[in-house]
Amino acid sequence: MTLFTCGPVQMYKSTMNVRNNGYIHFRTDEYGDIVKTTLARLSELIGNHRKFGTIYLASSGTAVMEATIENCISDLDKCLVINGGGFGRRFCELLKYHQKNYTSVDIKWNEKLTEEHLKPYEDKGYTALFVNIHETTSGQLYDKKMLSDFCKRNGMYFIVDAMSSFMADEYDMDKYGIDVTLITSQKGLCCSPGMAVVSLSERMIEKIYSEKNRVTSKYFDYKDYLDNIDRGQTPYTPPVFMIYEVRDVLNLIEEKGGLDAWLNDIKHKGEFFRKRAEAIDLKLPDYPVSNMLTPVIFDDISAYDVIQVLKNEYSIYVNPCGGELASKLVRISHIGDTTTTDIEDLMEKLVLSINQVRKQIR
Ligand SMILES: *Cc1c(COP(=O)(O)O)cnc(C)c1O
Repeated sequence: MTLFTCGPVQMYKSTMNVRNNGYIHFRTDEYGDIVKTTLARLSELIGNHRKFGTIYLASSGTAVMEATIENCISDLDKCLVINGGGFGRRFCELLKYHQKNYTSVDIKWNEKLTEEHLKPYEDKGYTALFVNIHETTSGQLYDKKMLSDFCKRNGMYFIVDAMSSFMADEYDMDKYGIDVTLITSQKGLCCSPGMAVVSLSERMIEKIYSEKNRVTSKYFDYKDYLDNIDRGQTPYTPPVFMIYEVRDVLNLIEEKGGLDAWLNDIKHKGEFFRKRAEAIDLKLPDYPVSNMLTPVIFDDISAYDVIQVLKNEYSIYVNPCGGELASKLVRISHIGDTTTTDIEDLMEKLVLSINQVRKQIR
């Protein structure tokens, strides 16, 4: 069985084994030290070089998308959301649910986000931009620099869901003036699902403490997490094993030669796949894509059917899509413990699956 999926991923063996090695109780200085060291190392990779303002909690990724709206956005804010797919839509739904003031910048799944889309919103009093920097549903990777410049020009907070980009593409909070980075354990970090990480800029921390609006959910009040994290503690029971898993992956990255080497390896796997896909005339998108994932576009047969054959006949798992893209896209992930040999095997099975589906509809 091989997972060419981006969350959860094909985990590394050592990370899988972490759970066999036991753990210490979390209300101890020793555990707190592991947390502090691990989050400091992670902050460095995120590009939060102050190594302060990074918190973690037991939750899926969506929980911190929602919690960030509650903690960071007041009734005085005017938000803009880049909405190019399922995760952009999720930000809109959450903002609506919490009765925040927002405007959705709608782009079609196969349309490249450009300056033109942002022009109507210059100098219009917007205070915060929400973006899923890699819209995982379509596989489009947005231009961080362009969005960062837009936020700087307009004096806006820059809030980035980097869940399916961080640790696959270059990312740097300080460099791009990002105020909130949201990540989750089961994507680029190649760990089990269950832990979300929020990294905050200094000015966003100030905003959180000064906000008059009440965070309605007690569990997700970031102030409680920020108050405790200096000691490596959380207000409630943390996902204890996850910190050990993250530490294991950070060690793997170091063994590989650092983050750049890690990113290059993923990039190489992506390019390897794309070159072979093009050689057999598979259709790939025109818009920019992340190193994490390659969407293959199907027009003549159902992508969903291809995915079923891959799973049922060959025990190969790739990312299915929901909604309108379910029959259109097969998304192949390049993160996790897979090699170019695995990709060659995948290509072979992919061709067999496509042929089988074509035969069925003839
Ligand atoms: C995976 C993902 C999430 C989080 O989804 P959960 O299922 O809630 O963990 C959020 N945003 C993006 C862009 C993602 O790819």
